[in-house]
Amino acid sequence: MWVLNRALATRGYRLIFCVFHALTGLYCPGCGAGRALSALLRLAPREAFGYNQLFVVTLPFLVIALARAVYFYIRYGKAPKPHKRDFPAAIAIAAAAVLFTVMRNIPALAFLAPSAGI
Ligand SMILES: [Zn+2]
Repeated sequence: MWVLNRALATRGYRLIFCVFHALTGLYCPGCGAGRALSALLRLAPREAFGYNQLFVVTLPFLVIALARAVYFYIRYGKAPKPHKRDFPAAIAIAAAAVLFTVMRNIPALAFLAPSAGI
């Protein structure tokens, strides 16, 4: 799929695209995350950071949360229940995503937009 998407991208087409961006012309908090992940897998963190700063910063926490869920599922046969102490972190991440979305669509902060376009 990634190879097909890259082949199409060289011709100006994209197999994976952002519906929010296609409809509004604005960048959502996830715009560039796929390219950022691709860059991280190629061990190019600077390039990844140019595509989506929020994704790169929060990825370690997402990986830890996923590893925790997998551990609980393997050990107890079910996913962990959300805990009260997780609520402030979830609110903080949601607020950061909203703030990031607003900031990356302000022309003066264009460096927050995906560096290679969408
Ligand atoms: Zn998007």
